[in-house]
Amino acid sequence: MPIYEYEHLEEPCALGKMFDVEQSIHDKPLKQCPECAGPLRKLISRTYISTPKTNSELRDLGFTKLVKRDDGVYENVTARDGDSRYMERGKPGTIPKISKTIKD
Ligand SMILES: [Zn+2]
Repeated sequence: MPIYEYEHLEEPCALGKMFDVEQSIHDKPLKQCPECAGPLRKLISRTYISTPKTNSELRDLGFTKLVKRDDGVYENVTARDGDSRYMERGKPGTIPKISKTIKD
C-alpha cells in the first residue's frame, strides 16, 4: 500500500511533527491525526514504496542503479555476478544483463 506523509498543523503529538501513514489509494486523505485528533496537512507523497537505502537492498529488490562516473561511463553499483561493473557508452557488452536478473 502507498505511504502518505502528513504534517501536524498545530502542536505535534507522539507521532512527531510529520509522520507516515500507510493507506489504500481508495482511502480519503486524513484530516485529523489518528493519535491526537489534531488538524493535518497531507504532504506530497515522496514515493509509493518506501525507498530502500543501500545499494545491496536495491540489488536484492531487482533494481539496477547506475552512477555516472565520467562522460559516458557509469558504474553499476548494484552489479551482480557476471555483470560488468562499469558501463561505457558504445560498448554493449558492458550493459547490465537485465534478462539474466529477471527470472520470471
Ligand atoms: Zn497527532
